[in-house]
Amino acid sequence: MTLKLESKAIRNAVAKLKFRTQAFVGGRFVKAKSGRTFVTENPATGRPIARVAECDAADVDAAVKAARRAFEAGNWSRMKPADRKKTLLAFADLLETHVGELALLDCLEAGKPITDCATLDLPDTVQCIRWHAETIDKLYDRVSPTGPENLALILREPVGVVGCVVPWNFPAQMAAWKIGPALAAGNSVVLKPAEQTSLSALRMAELAAAAGLPEGVFNVVPGFGPTAGQAIGRHPDVDMAAFTGSTEVGRLFLKYSAESNLKRVILECGGKSPQVVLADPPDLDLIAQNAVSSAFWNMGENCSCGSRLIVHASVKDDLLNRLVKLARSWTVGDPLDPATRVGSMIERPHLEKVLGYIDAGRSDGARLALGGRRILEKSGGYFVEVTVFDGVDSRMKIAREEIFGPVLSVISFKTEAEAVAIANDTNYGLAASLYTRDLNTAHRVARAIRAGTVSVNCYSEGDITTPFGGYKESGFAGRDKSIFAHEQYTELKTIWMQLA
Ligand code: NAD
Repeated sequence: MTLKLESKAIRNAVAKLKFRTQAFVGGRFVKAKSGRTFVTENPATGRPIARVAECDAADVDAAVKAARRAFEAGNWSRMKPADRKKTLLAFADLLETHVGELALLDCLEAGKPITDCATLDLPDTVQCIRWHAETIDKLYDRVSPTGPENLALILREPVGVVGCVVPWNFPAQMAAWKIGPALAAGNSVVLKPAEQTSLSALRMAELAAAAGLPEGVFNVVPGFGPTAGQAIGRHPDVDMAAFTGSTEVGRLFLKYSAESNLKRVILECGGKSPQVVLADPPDLDLIAQNAVSSAFWNMGENCSCGSRLIVHASVKDDLLNRLVKLARSWTVGDPLDPATRVGSMIERPHLEKVLGYIDAGRSDGARLALGGRRILEKSGGYFVEVTVFDGVDSRMKIAREEIFGPVLSVISFKTEAEAVAIANDTNYGLAASLYTRDLNTAHRVARAIRAGTVSVNCYSEGDITTPFGGYKESGFAGRDKSIFAHEQYTELKTIWMQLA
C-alpha cells in the first residue's frame, strides 16, 4: 500500500488497517499457549488499538523448537546462497509494497509522526533487508597461509537460533537491523518486539512467509520483557541473543547468558550523545538545524539523540537564540497529521519520567530557555513540549542520564580540551557530532571522543554501509548495520586438512 501523506488519505488508510495480533510460530499465527492477551495502546490518544497474544516462556520454547527444526532441516541455513538472496530480496520487495501499512502501524503504536515513519523508518527498513540480502552471494570464506602439506579452510557458518529482543522507538527498523543480517547469514530467528509495538513485527513475519521464507525460520513472540524477553535470554537452545534497548536490561542479558548456556550476546543500548560546537563553527544556522533535529527528532526517543549541546562560550548565546527560534517551528501534535514533527511519548509512565527530568533540570538550577510542559492533554495522549535548558552543568542529572525525551541541555566551554572532557564525561558512548571549520580540529576531536559514530559538521548515524553501536555502556560486543553486523551472526570454523 502506498500512502499519500495527506490527512484524508491517511484517515481512510487507518480505517482499513487489519491487525495481526497472534504470535507467529512455525509459519503460522497462533494464540499464546496461556490464552492470555494484552492491550496495545495508541499513546497519542490513550485509547486501545488491539489485544495482542501475551507470549511467555512456553511460547518462546515452542518458537525456539520451530526455529531449531528449521535450522537443522537446512532448507534455509544450507540453502544455496543465490536462492537465499532471492528469497530475502522478495521479502524486501514485499515490505516495500507495504511500506504505507507498516508505517501506519508504527505511527499508531509508537506515537511517531507518520511522515517520519513513511519517509524514513520504513524505507530504511526495506533498504536494510535488501542490503543484507545482497551480501549473501558476495561473501567469500578464506584459506589460511599454511605450509604445502596442509589445507586450512576458515569458514563462516550461521550461529543457529538467534533470539532478538528489540525496543519500541523504531519498531520495524530496529527489528530489521537484527533480522536482516541474522537471516542473511542463514540463521533461524525468534523475535520479541517491545510490548508497546508488536504489530509491525507480526506483519513483517507474515510478509516474510509470503516471500518464501521456510516455516520456522522467522518467528515472532509478542509479550513482556520479564517473561518472554527473559525466556529468550535464558533459553538453553538459543545460540545468540541480539538485544537493543536500555543499558539496564542489556546487563540482564549478560546474566541470562552466564546462567544458562553462554549464548553469544550482543547489546545495543542507551546513549547521552554530545554535540560539540567548537570556537570556529561553520554556518550557525546550519548547526542550529542539525542540533534541533538531533535533539528532537523522534521526540528525543532516539538512542543517538544529541541531548547535550556543548558549545564554545563565544558562540553559545548566538546559537542558542537561533536554535530556540527554530525549535518553536517543530510542531508537536497528532502523529497522523503529516505536518506533525513531534509526536507523543510512548506511554504514560515514560511521559512522567520525562517530566520528572524537566523538574530536576529546574531544581538543579538550569535555566529553562524553551518548553518544559505537558501539552495537548485533552487528546488523551502523552505530549511534551520541545524543551531547552541553558546553563547546564555536567554534574546535573539532566546532563548525565538518558532522558529519552525532547529535552536538550546546553553546556558551554572555553577550551577544546574542556569540550572533549565534557563530551566524554558520561558512561555512554554511542554517538557524537562536532562542528568546526578546521580539518585538523575535526580529526583530532573526532578521535578524542569515545563514541561509536562521530559525525562532523552534521548530525548523522551514517548509512546502511556503516556500523552502528556503542562504546562503554552503550553497547557490548557488536554493531548493527554493515558487513560487520553480518559477521557477528556467524561462527568461525577451521577445517584443517592433511595433504598427502
Ligand atoms: P527496554 O530495555 O525497556 O526494552 C527493550 C526490550 O527489552 C523490550 O522488548 C522489552 O520488552 C525487553 N525487556 C524489558 N525488560 C526485560 C527483561 N527483564 N528481560 C528481558 N527482556 C526485557 O528499552 P526500551 O524502553 O524499549 O527502549 C529504549 C532504550 O533502547 C533506550 O535506552 C535507547 O537508547 C535504547 N536503544 C538503543 C539503540 C541502539 O542502537 N543502541 C537503538 C534504539 C534504542
